[in-house]
Amino acid sequence: MGPINRSEILIALAGNPNSGKSTLFNAITGARQHVGNYPGITVEKKEGFYDFNGRSLRLVDLPGTYSLTAYSLEERVARELLANERPAAVINVVDASNLERNLYLTVQILEMGIPVIVALNMVDVAKGRGIEIDAQLLAERLGFPVVPTVARRGEGKTELMEKVLAFADENQRREPLRLYYGPDIDPVLDDMEREIAASGFLTEVYPPRWTALKYLEADEQILDAGNAADPEVSRRLLEKAHRVTEHIKATLDSYPEAIIADHRYGFITALLKGGVVRKSPRADRLYLSDQIDKVLTNRFFGPLVMVLILYAVYQFTFRYSEIPVNLLEKVFSALGDWCLATLPEGPLRSLLVSGIIDGVGGVLGFVPLIVFMFFAIAFLEDTGYLARCAYMLDRIFRIFGLHGNSFMAYIISGGIAGGCAVPGVMATRTLRSSRERLATLLTVPFMNCGAKLPVFALLIASFFSEHRAQMMFLLTILSWSMALFLAKLIRVTLLKGPSTPFLLELPPYRLPTFKGLLIHTWERTWQYIQKAGSVILAISILLWALMTYPGLPEERREAFQAERLAVVEALPSPYREAAASGEPPDAGAPPAVRAAWERLRALDAGESRDALMYSFAGRMGRSLEALTRWCGFDWRTNVALVGGFAAKEVIISTLGTAYSLGETDSEESLSLSRRLQKDPQWNPLVALTAMVFIMLYSPCFVTVTCIVKESGTWKWGLFSMVFSTTIAFILAVLLYQIGRALGFGA
Ligand code: GDP
Ligand code: MG
Repeated sequence: MGPINRSEILIALAGNPNSGKSTLFNAITGARQHVGNYPGITVEKKEGFYDFNGRSLRLVDLPGTYSLTAYSLEERVARELLANERPAAVINVVDASNLERNLYLTVQILEMGIPVIVALNMVDVAKGRGIEIDAQLLAERLGFPVVPTVARRGEGKTELMEKVLAFADENQRREPLRLYYGPDIDPVLDDMEREIAASGFLTEVYPPRWTALKYLEADEQILDAGNAADPEVSRRLLEKAHRVTEHIKATLDSYPEAIIADHRYGFITALLKGGVVRKSPRADRLYLSDQIDKVLTNRFFGPLVMVLILYAVYQFTFRYSEIPVNLLEKVFSALGDWCLATLPEGPLRSLLVSGIIDGVGGVLGFVPLIVFMFFAIAFLEDTGYLARCAYMLDRIFRIFGLHGNSFMAYIISGGIAGGCAVPGVMATRTLRSSRERLATLLTVPFMNCGAKLPVFALLIASFFSEHRAQMMFLLTILSWSMALFLAKLIRVTLLKGPSTPFLLELPPYRLPTFKGLLIHTWERTWQYIQKAGSVILAISILLWALMTYPGLPEERREAFQAERLAVVEALPSPYREAAASGEPPDAGAPPAVRAAWERLRALDAGESRDALMYSFAGRMGRSLEALTRWCGFDWRTNVALVGGFAAKEVIISTLGTAYSLGETDSEESLSLSRRLQKDPQWNPLVALTAMVFIMLYSPCFVTVTCIVKESGTWKWGLFSMVFSTTIAFILAVLLYQIGRALGFGA
């Protein structure tokens, strides 16, 4: 007997998201796995090992994808691994209850010429829906093994691995699958294939026909690789692709990609005909998704239901979170009072009360609201309804030069209010056309992210408390309108070009588990809290310092002190000591004593206000007043807006700090909301103008950083800041001036 062959055999697991890939991977490899990242990107790489009869298999769990078109990072990663590492075989996990859709990926793997073993997973679910699949017949038609499995229970695992090993042993290259792509594309494809094969163009990595298909699909990655390999051949191929694209556009009003997809689905339909899939008639009725979709994606009812559902989300969020929000606000205000009462006056107390408690408390106080909002979004996401929204909205997005897939980026950024533009900007990776992608990532920051939400909630509670849900709804509509309008503006000026076709998979509806919803809600809430706890704390302290230093110049402080002394001196001697100590006078004290006491408090407040105005932040805010008086903002608002560039949450904490410094030693520290209501500078018109400005002005610096990273140049980051702030300013001025002219905000 010869030595045992110990060289590793590479096997990849591929499949749509949620097909049960990871479950199967775990069932096969058990604990023998490790998780890392693909170099330089955030896509997870899971590898595991499996030994059988002295042979050693290395399994890679590819990211879940619907196709291999390189529209998204996941698809690119999966594709590159298949092309470059050439696994001995691919275990293609398909969801048996959704066979047609899942085989779309299978076809593409076969087109790359990689042997496939189909793990027909979730046959239990399929059976439950009355779907029976003849695995034997399907295997014959495909020419590759098909093994029914229930990954969750480990069923079919052994048979599957036997087939995999047998296949790996054969170790023979299979011819790539050849599909017929219709009279327009096919002849050109053949022609291109010949040219590619003859010149050895990229043939070390990709089969010739596959490369030709990618040229027709205008796959940027392959075009780049081709151009680097042989610019001359690449140019000729592009020319051919271009000609056929123009032809298809002119005659069929379509794109090569759409036609290619049609033919792949046609192939799958043919594959499944004649008894491969049998559905009991009851199954069709039981298959609720389709029935539900008839109503929920109906041309007329769909949008109506969507608006109603979004409105219900607001009602849910705002009504039920009110109690815990009020409670937390009380807790923080009590904490502030306690510090005021127990600590001696000085910089430390000021830092604690005005910097830390007001700042972080203002942000954490809104955690309940954010929990409710995230819970509602997680529910819509987990049921599969959000994907329907993307599907319905594609037609609208198209009008604005965007794509149905842009929807997710907007939602994540806060399209239903309460997201974050940072993951939103990253979510634009699913967009393939760089123009649509840029237009999306430049406009997603206009959504009402979780950081703007507390600011709005504060201003709405202060000035529009009768119409909370309605105001939030209005703000959401406004942010969408502005984002879409500005996206269109960008798409017809800076980023001119056609839209790409829409191919979105609608997952079946699922009733989410309560546990799953809680986990999703918690993950996002925790991110928010961490941000509030670290970045916001640091920035609150920094801003507190900016607002406290440098103190008033000596002679101004002395002038205040002299005035105070004069007031005290004027009192009859028995009352002087009490007045100087700041104690409020007894009820029985003469009116002159009470007047003197009030005069002293006014002097204190005046000194604090002057000190703030004199501080670094105050000077900045004041110099901006020349501009912002056109939209009704005074320097304190300006300071907060400047702070908001660090992170939008900071707006509240800064307002809190700015307005709490204006009063000293008040017996109770009023909530910020009450302080704003009482301030003469603020009224409903100013509040509305401020909300519009905050909605639209420059994204926070973290988002800007992401825009720079995702767009690959700092210019788009800079553009985003300047563009957004300009638009916000123009709109705020218009709103405020028109509002004033109409007599509001007097
Ligand atoms: P992946 O996205 O492809 O990695 O899918 P997962 O492995 O995370 O599985 C998605 C969900 O389907 C999980 O809740 C699994 O427990 C479940 N699942 C996986 N395989 C089966 C199966 O054969 N039958 C049933 N009923 N559920 C399964
Ligand atoms: Mg997985």
